[in-house]
Amino acid sequence: MKNNISVLGLGKSGISAANLAVKLGNSVFASDVGKTKKLENLNKKVSVELGGCHSDKILSSNIIIKSPGLCPDISILKKAQSKKIQILSELSFALLNSKYRKIIAVTGTNGKTTTADLISKIIKSEHKNSIVVGNIGIPLSDKALKTTKDTYITMELSSYQLEDSPNFKANISVLLNITPDHLNHHKTMRAYIKSKQNIFVNQTKNDFLVVNYDDKICANLAKKAKSRVIFFSKKPLKSGVFYNDGKIVIQIDKKHFQIEPRINIVGMHNIENILASFAATYVAGIHLKSIEKIISKYKGVPHRIEFVKAINGVSYYNDSKATNVDSTRVALESFDKNINLIMGGQDKGVPYTPLKQLIKKKVKAVFLIGEASNKIKKDLRGASTFFDSKSLEQALRQAYMNSKDGDIVLFSPACASFDSFTNFEERGNIFKSLVNKLGK
Ligand code: ADP
Repeated sequence: MKNNISVLGLGKSGISAANLAVKLGNSVFASDVGKTKKLENLNKKVSVELGGCHSDKILSSNIIIKSPGLCPDISILKKAQSKKIQILSELSFALLNSKYRKIIAVTGTNGKTTTADLISKIIKSEHKNSIVVGNIGIPLSDKALKTTKDTYITMELSSYQLEDSPNFKANISVLLNITPDHLNHHKTMRAYIKSKQNIFVNQTKNDFLVVNYDDKICANLAKKAKSRVIFFSKKPLKSGVFYNDGKIVIQIDKKHFQIEPRINIVGMHNIENILASFAATYVAGIHLKSIEKIISKYKGVPHRIEFVKAINGVSYYNDSKATNVDSTRVALESFDKNINLIMGGQDKGVPYTPLKQLIKKKVKAVFLIGEASNKIKKDLRGASTFFDSKSLEQALRQAYMNSKDGDIVLFSPACASFDSFTNFEERGNIFKSLVNKLGK
């Protein structure tokens, strides 16, 4: 049956969902409150309204596809609910139109992209017919019509996507960690945790849930799962996947295997990502040799503690994707001392105090940029010397002047980028190009 479909929100996933809906032969209307939107990738058959409010025309459709991030309380969605119009997320709509052999879904506050990327590379080494989609930057709607019953779909899912997809079910789910983030949107930790729970809530006993044993919130949440729980940990476990002196060990069902891959990505948090990827791909049926080989080749994703360059013995790292406090914490944990830290940007309603002790111990000076500067200084008072910088360029220059042979200059903002940049990629690319110009 062909439908009248309305798409709310014309970001990347909204455009992709609208295009898929057109390809499936539906009549499609799309609405966005933004006045200017880049719509060159939108199918011309989609009729569009921009600016102002979402009009009541939406209520004449029989399916609404809601973009992640749109507040579920907006009046048009309330009206649609009372009219019993089906409201779907882009993910749910795309899944209804996809075929697959297995779905492997990854969520967590941090490490999603790295883990989903690594999992998909391992899976691809044995199953050419596999894709990676979701929050990683490729909506499933882009790929749905190319999937077959043999496709392995690896997905990176954000709390926003999960919040809108209460019926979601994966064969293998991965829950990496939960720390405060996106509270501007979810309002409470409870609501944030509840959204993350949708990664496993519909799983049954034939499915797997890979969970971080060392994260109390996650380990507790796993008690609710009906699926088979596989814990991973940085310390030895009786049953599960763990790290022991450079070895990655798996101990389940009275079986014991270990691999000893070369590890090229820095920090213990990346060991967690590797453990989770190992567990997920092992239960997906991938051979240990392939897993070991791909981990040994893995170089990480740009903008995540990415080494840029050494100048006069000082190493410069771009961690622009550190858009919350915990990701900056793990970046600081990844180095011993003598860190010149550049941080700041758009605040996300979370305290910076968890960084205080680490900064005290390891950081020579903090160079602040962006809107959150005053709050950061207040929360971290006494932990280090703080310099206000007018721009990223000035912060980098100050950090350059302050550093000497053996130091680290780390750009790990702990904040969103939207106060001064289009996104974290633009922010990171600008940082890298500024570093490349230094000392010239
Ligand atoms: P996400 O997709 O969840 O944002 P990324 O892999 O893009 O995760 O990493 C985002 C930031 O979090 C980077 O700064 C990275 O260094 C840090 N990070 C990566 N993995 C973890 C982890 N397991 N725990 C905490 N922080 C992490």
